Amino acid sequence: MMSRLTEAHRLHLLHSVLCAVNLGAIVLDGDRRVVLWNAWMIKHSGLGHDKVIGADFFTVCPGLRGGRVESAIQHALYNNFPSLLSQTLNKAPFALYASPAAAARNERIQQAVEVRPIAVEGAARHCLIQINDVSIAVGREKLLREQAMVLRTQTFADGLTGIANRRHFDVAMEKEHRRAKRGGTPLSLLMIDIDHFKAYNDHYGHQKGDQCLIQVAAALASMLRRPCDLMARYGGEEFAMILPETDVEQATLMAEAIRARTQELAIPHERNSDAVQQVTVSIGIATQRVDAPADIEALIGAADRALYLAKRNGRNRTEALLPA
Ligand code: GH3
Ligand code: MG
Ligand code: MG
Repeated sequence: MMSRLTEAHRLHLLHSVLCAVNLGAIVLDGDRRVVLWNAWMIKHSGLGHDKVIGADFFTVCPGLRGGRVESAIQHALYNNFPSLLSQTLNKAPFALYASPAAAARNERIQQAVEVRPIAVEGAARHCLIQINDVSIAVGREKLLREQAMVLRTQTFADGLTGIANRRHFDVAMEKEHRRAKRGGTPLSLLMIDIDHFKAYNDHYGHQKGDQCLIQVAAALASMLRRPCDLMARYGGEEFAMILPETDVEQATLMAEAIRARTQELAIPHERNSDAVQQVTVSIGIATQRVDAPADIEALIGAADRALYLAKRNGRNRTEALLPA
């Protein structure tokens, strides 16, 4: 059975609902004066009825003058047109705060704002402004974005050494190869392989082998000078360095510096060779010709063959080849 409410009851109920809803509600008359300002607005703006009812809306909220909220109000009152304000453009147009402490820090509630016209019998059109607190949704979105970033980092980093992994190398190689071709610039690739590493593992144990890889990777990565250079773990005990805009002379200098730096780490390696009892690397260098750019496979193939040459010629040395 429908309960019968008197007009006074009905008004009282409407008032209670407006007080209880968990969103900001403002009604403006045709002259943009505030005729309704609900409890949520009082709580979060700190402005009571005495300050706002009957007052010009833009005197109450001077910060909104000339902005998107004002055009939305114009649309509603004069063109009978509702608007939903995009959150990405303005996350917090109203000076609303979750608590006095947040107000002191000037940390506004993140808002979704909707302005719609309402017809009023016997009077000019009014408009209703609704404000939703979307801070939680925005916070969640931020968290998701951060988690996605962490995942991306993990996807492109080698688990043992923390430097770029093979996947990262492949992506960077594609990008730099395209850039070199487009710009007509040289591109160099170094393949770096630890000498007699199987013997190192056999002699010192796999855990020491891991430590050695971590130490060498960190030393090599610290030698990069430009943001576009990349040092990656290519596989096992093999590393690759991409050097854009680098000709064969500059690449050879870098390779020599890497070879010397590795030996300077002075990681003992009794089984390396009679002459050198520290961990050393051999390096193959390939530089792409500016006038006849090779494809990526040819560049990697040339660096591999140069590395093989360096091994055959005695290890702890660098060799350069041009891609076929
Ligand atoms: P060369 O001087 O010709 O390069 O000799 P090598 O012994 O270094 O070459 P080879 O490719 O035969 O051996 C590589 C060794 O690297 C074999 C493998 O046990 C070791 N290795 C590969 N990945 C890892 C790793 O993640 N940790 C450890 N500890 N060893 C690894
Ligand atoms: Mg090796
Ligand atoms: Mg190897």
